[in-house]
Amino acid sequence: MDEADVLAPLRQEFTLNDGEIYLDGNSLGPVSTSVRRRVREVIDDEWGRGLVRSWNDAGWMGEPTRLGDRIAPLIGAQPGEVLVADTLTFLIAKLIGAALEHRPDRHVVLTDAANFHSDIYIIEAMCERAGRPVTMKTIDRDRLEEYLNDDVALVELTQVDYRTGESLDMAGITEQVHAAGALMLWDFAHSAGAVPLDVTGADVDFAAGCGYKYLNGGPGAPAFLYVRKSWQGQLRNPLPGWLGHARPFDFELTYEPADGMQAFVTSSPSIVALAALDGALDIWDRTSMDQVRVKSLALTDLFIGLAEERLPGIFEVVTPLDHARRGSQVALRHPEGYGIIQALIENGVIGDFRAPDICRFGFTPLYLRFVDVFDAVERISGVMATESFRDDRFAVHNAVT
Ligand SMILES: *Cc1c(COP(=O)(O)O)cnc(C)c1O
Repeated sequence: MDEADVLAPLRQEFTLNDGEIYLDGNSLGPVSTSVRRRVREVIDDEWGRGLVRSWNDAGWMGEPTRLGDRIAPLIGAQPGEVLVADTLTFLIAKLIGAALEHRPDRHVVLTDAANFHSDIYIIEAMCERAGRPVTMKTIDRDRLEEYLNDDVALVELTQVDYRTGESLDMAGITEQVHAAGALMLWDFAHSAGAVPLDVTGADVDFAAGCGYKYLNGGPGAPAFLYVRKSWQGQLRNPLPGWLGHARPFDFELTYEPADGMQAFVTSSPSIVALAALDGALDIWDRTSMDQVRVKSLALTDLFIGLAEERLPGIFEVVTPLDHARRGSQVALRHPEGYGIIQALIENGVIGDFRAPDICRFGFTPLYLRFVDVFDAVERISGVMATESFRDDRFAVHNAVT
């Protein structure tokens, strides 16, 4: 399988530790050669020598929209529809605040009760600050239909469930939400760079995603937001700042939004962090989401098949077997999940644990080999056979799991 893999040459672009199998690119992608090159260039030349001139000479002001245009093809967006800024929770806040103004007679925002906690915190906070009564309802997403009515302003869902790896039907759900007269906001944290997306075809209103997961932009990398062209110019950024103003250097005291996606900028772009993300995006010039998807499904199929063969009855495979409903990770349920992941890390298999009982393994086709999948399952079998996960060292949880 590795010999037939068209993506195999890309692996050499990434820094990976010898003997280690990295199945956590869904949490923090590894560093690539072009990240190093681009960060060095920005530090040594643009910042180092150019200093303040580089805001003009190196085009720093344009970086948020230029990088947005580089991400656009990965989610099926058009140029001018994606902006890179802030981090994901902030962008969700901006989009919720902006969207709520466009359904002034509606009072409910729906989200998934199994959603990522940060999404839930910020959605609730933005509802409370809407300037009118708006309530967030956390629901069972499989019963969305029952909750959709003419009081629902907006629905926010994470397209690939961070815990189970289930991929939701973006086009079908968006259509359902629109039919009820509500707006749709998708969280692409575990989707961008992981599964092919077509925001244009699905008629998505708004979306936002992470730069540091499958896009490999580095720890705390800036995030991206998508606003469909037809919405631009109509939405108000609830966190306005000088760099989203039409004329920031006129220092006017009345806010007037810039055109297009620039209106969603609040403050100074984080240029060194953007350089890392820029370098990380180079890899996508050499492949496509369709190629990545084919290998992603082959990797997760192999992992699930080997896990069922080598570890029968030990774990519950939580991730859907149906390809159409699977993201690019596999979740295995086990009551001793935390200790198992810690024991695996000691054995050179890096995955992560999501409470209360999920062992999560991300499969990133840009640098993983099929032999890595085979070896990972061998090492999991070893840990389960020796029960090293029961060791006292693993009784106390680290701050980051
Ligand atoms: C990772 C993740 C986030 C992270 O948000 P930050 O603000 O970038 O830290 C948000 N939502 C989901 C669903 C995630 O998986």
